[in-house]
Amino acid sequence: MPRTAPADRGVPYFAAFLDLLHARVVVVGGGRVASSKVRSLLPCGPDPLVVVAPRASAAIQRAAAAGQLTWHQRAYAGQDDLAGATLAFGASDDRQLNAQVAADARRLGIPVLAVDDVPNCDFIAPAVVRRGDVTVAISTAGRSPAMARRTRELLDALLPRYWGDLLDVAAAARERLGGTRSVIDPDRWQSALQGEVEYLTSIGALQEATDLLLRKLERSLFEPSSQAHGLVSLVGAGPGDPDLLTLRAVQRLRSAEVVVHDRLVSEAVLEHAAPDAERIDVGKRSGGKGATQDDINDLLVDLGRQGRRVVRLKGGDPFVFGRGGEEALALARASVDFEVVPGISSALAAPAAAGIPVTPRGLSASVTVVNGHDADQHDWRSLARGGGTLVFLMAVEHLEVIVERLLSHGRSPLEPAALVEWATLPGQRVLAAPLAEIVRQARLVEVEPPAVLVVGPTAALVNQLGPRGSRVASELDLMVAR
Ligand code: SAH
Repeated sequence: MPRTAPADRGVPYFAAFLDLLHARVVVVGGGRVASSKVRSLLPCGPDPLVVVAPRASAAIQRAAAAGQLTWHQRAYAGQDDLAGATLAFGASDDRQLNAQVAADARRLGIPVLAVDDVPNCDFIAPAVVRRGDVTVAISTAGRSPAMARRTRELLDALLPRYWGDLLDVAAAARERLGGTRSVIDPDRWQSALQGEVEYLTSIGALQEATDLLLRKLERSLFEPSSQAHGLVSLVGAGPGDPDLLTLRAVQRLRSAEVVVHDRLVSEAVLEHAAPDAERIDVGKRSGGKGATQDDINDLLVDLGRQGRRVVRLKGGDPFVFGRGGEEALALARASVDFEVVPGISSALAAPAAAGIPVTPRGLSASVTVVNGHDADQHDWRSLARGGGTLVFLMAVEHLEVIVERLLSHGRSPLEPAALVEWATLPGQRVLAAPLAEIVRQARLVEVEPPAVLVVGPTAALVNQLGPRGSRVASELDLMVAR
């Protein structure tokens, strides 16, 4: 049968996991590539595992000496070497020899893999991420080993270390349930495994995790499925760059049935949600359009009561000026299960992304995060005279008022200040100027929300540490201003 290159296939590979215990497997070749095949085959228990090669790596020789494989120390002798094999590998450094192995194997009806030669493969060996008995296999249809490796790295970072243990917990509970398990649907399993059971597993308390899982499952049998256990996760989405999401935020997004999000949360972040997850945009827009906070609280309570897995995604950290606290209170009052997944707040990420350390030794011993709205609720005297770094959120609309109050209560007109707009996102801009000058500069270059205002000696470090393209008002600007 003529074989085609992967790009011409037009059909995907069928993914399967092979049981090789006690199977005869033949590897032709003894070098680096063959060794790596042997390494991934050995744990699967093939018997005999036969290596045919005149020379073999130290690892193969060791495995042969330990009786884990049979090494025929000679050249490949044709299809007789393959007889009776379940799988064959052409894994030598000689492409032609590998193709020969493929042709012989195919004549005998034995599935074969010739390394780096997709047309001569009946199957390809995936890159693999393992956690105990959880195995994730990755294929790029043989088109890019580098992409396969990168995908493996991403998944490896994503899958918690305790994932195999969580499988053990689930399997133990399944066994102990015996016949009852058939009446528990996958949704109940999934929601019972989340939250506390997962947490107990992550700290190694597997027995407790199993007991709790059983209790949760047994309890869920007496609830109609519409009241299955809901969980609302109040998740911080970080300042904007999707790489700055926490691993837990990504995990919660993946398993969410409903994602309720703000306007500021970017598409790239939302893409972590499952494609079939419902998305609800409750972004509050200026001019009063969009949902009110009461609407949002009611919505979250409703969804939780329906037993759904909800992610309430909020910019930055959910408890920093995000009104996440009010949502948590509403859920607690309604006895809906919820959790908080902290996020990286723009209050700290925006200065960092602009090259402004907020508390460098000797320059500033404190950082105060201030709501830029509602000027009247602050003690401006202590803000102005405190001397530490001030970070104002929601700063743009009220920039004049903020600066005027700071100056009139005693901060120096020459105090360094900086505005960081769209921090960590491709459109990030940084503008630095003395406090007395920052309003005019901001209007000049039309700074818009979202942005934070940083005030304090450390803001001057933008000059040395800031990203290229930061705009720093010069002496000349200052003279023109006067
Ligand atoms: N909970 C959020 C803050 C919500 S208030 C957090 O922890 O970051 C919204 C304000 O956050 C905006 O007005 C702006 O001041 C700030 N902000 C959020 N994302 C930002 C970003 N990418 N760059 C600059 N400021 C940002």
